[in-house]
Amino acid sequence: MERSAPHSNQCAQVPQQKRAEVLNCQREQSARHYAEMTPDKKEALLRRRRSKELYAQKRKRNKNLLARKGLSRLEKIPEKPLVLPSAPNCEHCGAKRLHLEPPNFLCSGGQVLLVIPSTPYDLLRLYSGLSEESLDFQKKIHTYNNSLAFTSLGEKYDHELTKNSKGVYTFCVEGQVYHYLNGLMPSVEEPSGIQLYFYDTEEELSRRLDSLPKLRESTVKLLTNVLG
Ligand SMILES: [Zn+2]
Repeated sequence: MERSAPHSNQCAQVPQQKRAEVLNCQREQSARHYAEMTPDKKEALLRRRRSKELYAQKRKRNKNLLARKGLSRLEKIPEKPLVLPSAPNCEHCGAKRLHLEPPNFLCSGGQVLLVIPSTPYDLLRLYSGLSEESLDFQKKIHTYNNSLAFTSLGEKYDHELTKNSKGVYTFCVEGQVYHYLNGLMPSVEEPSGIQLYFYDTEEELSRRLDSLPKLRESTVKLLTNVLG
């Protein structure tokens, strides 16, 4: 099969003069835009550019350092887990606090009282029962949870490191971790997450089972009823 030409080759086919004209035009536009800015905005722009440059320099330095030492990214993986220092439980509600979480973060210093509803019997049976259905649920609980979740994990992760088939499986997240919430209407793809809740019960059930065939129809039905 003939492969398409690389991007750089396509660019090279654009006449040199035309490219120079486009670049000049872009430069003039940027200069005009900069001249019209207020001093505050100019300063903010310069600050952003400077911090981008510093970040790029730092990345380059780190890359060079690793290359000099002949280290691959796999060798950077720590041997021990990083354990956060412990923090005392909340003195008002007894909740477990994380390191550096302010004392009033969880319940506003005892002002917020949480009501903990009792666990529905059907759910309790699945969690702790010994029947075939309960044991199957306990084995695939992660998949059931994913199937019924409104959101999924949103993050930028290191694809290169995650692809590694050698050593300890490592999932390295860059920046912030957040909840990813789909649009309420599916686009061209199959509906997933919160989108499935907008179907009639039977349609919702069959679509859930289509997307994850290893789930049991009776268990999904039961869990949907518990959530409803
Ligand atoms: Zn509390």
